[in-house]
Amino acid sequence: MKVIYPGSFDPLTNGHLDIIKRCSEKFDEVIIAVLNNTKKHNVFTVTERMELIKEATKDIENLEVDHFQGLLTEYAKRKGCNNIIRGLRAVSDFEYEMQMALVNRKVYPSLETYFMVSSSKVSFLSSSIVKEIASLNGDISCFVPKVVEDALKEKFKGGSR
Ligand code: ADP
Repeated sequence: MKVIYPGSFDPLTNGHLDIIKRCSEKFDEVIIAVLNNTKKHNVFTVTERMELIKEATKDIENLEVDHFQGLLTEYAKRKGCNNIIRGLRAVSDFEYEMQMALVNRKVYPSLETYFMVSSSKVSFLSSSIVKEIASLNGDISCFVPKVVEDALKEKFKGGSR
């Protein structure tokens, strides 16, 4: 079975990586779909985000790294895939995720959303908190893969963005 793992991934964290690794063991094929959201201020471009994911996941074989713009349902139809995976860190994620899953199913009835519960050792992680720490010159080495750590250091070299 093929599944799409959509998100901003700005940038990839060990939390995302935990979901990706576990997901790749459960599904035949995983498509990591990076959202190109022009309304959101992202630190990394879509190309940069995709490159970081590719580098950090190069040992996982059944992965495709792609990007999309607009509705996830339209993207899923184009890819011929009606399974979505999302990570759940805490109850606070649940309400929004539930709403999205129901709306998506209304728009695309055969679309199924699966939730994977975060491992407790990374459940506190988010891209935003990692960016915040990096912008303040803090140590992020245990929160993100090495390539992401280096890329964040480079982005915040001249101070906060
Ligand atoms: P979005 O803007 O779509 O929420 P994110 O990159 O923030 O994009 O998150 C993508 C997906 O990864 C979401 O399902 C989110 O819940 C999940 N996720 C993010 N951080 C973690 C984490 N630390 N553990 C598990 N899942 C996570």
